[in-house]
Amino acid sequence: MIEFYPEDELICLGADEGVDGPVLPPIDQASLFRKRTIEELLAELSAEHANAVYSRGTNPGVRILEDRLARLERGEACKSFSSGMGAVSAVLFGLLKRGDHILFVNDIYGPTIEFAERLEDYGVSHSRVFSADIAAIEQAMRDETKIVYFESPGSMLFRLAPIAAIAALTKSRGAISVIDNTVATPLLQKPIAMGVDLVIHSCSKYIGGHSDVVGGAVIGSEELIERIFYKAYMLLGAATAPMNAFLLLRGLMTLPARLARHHADAMALAQFLKTHKRVKRVHHPAFNEDDATLFAQQMRAHSGLFSIEIDAPSFGDVLERVNRLKLFGKAVSWGGVESLVITGRKKPATEKTRIPDSLIRLSVGLEGAGALTRDLEQALA
Ligand SMILES: *Cc1c(COP(=O)(O)O)cnc(C)c1O
Repeated sequence: MIEFYPEDELICLGADEGVDGPVLPPIDQASLFRKRTIEELLAELSAEHANAVYSRGTNPGVRILEDRLARLERGEACKSFSSGMGAVSAVLFGLLKRGDHILFVNDIYGPTIEFAERLEDYGVSHSRVFSADIAAIEQAMRDETKIVYFESPGSMLFRLAPIAAIAALTKSRGAISVIDNTVATPLLQKPIAMGVDLVIHSCSKYIGGHSDVVGGAVIGSEELIERIFYKAYMLLGAATAPMNAFLLLRGLMTLPARLARHHADAMALAQFLKTHKRVKRVHHPAFNEDDATLFAQQMRAHSGLFSIEIDAPSFGDVLERVNRLKLFGKAVSWGGVESLVITGRKKPATEKTRIPDSLIRLSVGLEGAGALTRDLEQALA
C-alpha cells in the first residue's frame, strides 16, 4: 500500500473544510453574478481573480477546486483551466516576452513543445536537454533563459529529473522553474516543497479519473498565479466550466483510493513484464536502477502509467500485438478506470528518436492485475 502525505486524503474529500452542508458544492451554472450596488461590483471587478463577477474569471465551485489543488500541492494559489494545454499555454504566454528563452529538461508532452514552436514566431526561443546531470542542465542555460520547464517522470520513457537541484539552479539564475506533475499526481510528488515555482496538471488524467472531463491547473505563489491570471488566463479564455469543476471535485474525492490500486496493479504488471521473454525493457521509475536515488528522494510511489519495449521484428508486428490486447482500449490519454494502450510512435520512425518503434505505453485501469496480466500474456505469446 502507498502511504500518502499526511492530510492529503482529507483535502481530497474536503473533510477538513467542516461537516455541515452538502458533501459536494453546488454547481453555479451562471455566467455572471449580480452585486447589490454598483460600488460593490466595481470593487470586486478590480480583483477579478478573487471574486466571482464573471465565469471566464472566477466561479465559486471552480474556486473550491482551485483551493483543494493548491493545498494538495502545498502552493499558495491555483488557477484552473479548461484543459491541461490551457494551463501550459497560459504559463508560457503569460510569463514570457520577445527575446526570452525556455529551457526544456527531460522528455516533454508533445503539444507543449509545439506551443513553444509557435512562440518562436513571437521572438521566444527554446532549446532542450535530456540529461538528468545538473552540470549539463546548467551548461544549457542561457542569460536569456526565463523559464526552465521540465517533467519528472518524463513523457513516454518516465525518466526522472533532479527536481530540487533544477529548482535551486533556476532560482540562482533569477528564472522561473515549471514542472508538469501530471504523471505523478499531487499525491505522489510535491515539487513546490522541493523549491519549484510552478506546478502544472492536466486534470483530464488521474484527477478527473473517469475519462469524462478535460481540465488543467497551475499552482504556485499568489504573485505568479495573479500574473498568469491577468496576463494570459483572462485573455486566452480557457476557463473551467462550472460542471467540469464539479466533476473534477468528485474525481478528487476518490483519487487516493484509485491511485493506490492503479499503483499496485501497475507494479504487479511491470514486475511480470520485466521477466517476460518478449519484453526488452520496462520503463517505470520503480524498475529503473539509474533513477533509483531520485525515485527514493522525490516520489512517494509511481502511478499506473508506464511503457515497455517489446521484441518485435517490425512496427507492423508491434501494431498486431497491440491489437491482440482485449482489455486495454486503443485510445489517447490515460488515468481513467479503464486500461488503455498506445504506441510510442504514431508512425514508423524515419529518423532516430528517443522513442523507439517497439515502445508501447500502458495505462493500468481498475480491471484487476490478474485479468490484465492474462491479457498481456496472450498478446505477447
Ligand atoms: C495530457 C497531458 C497534458 C495536456 O493536457 P490536456 O488536458 O489534454 O490538455 C499535458 N501534460 C501531460 C504530461 C499530459 O499527459
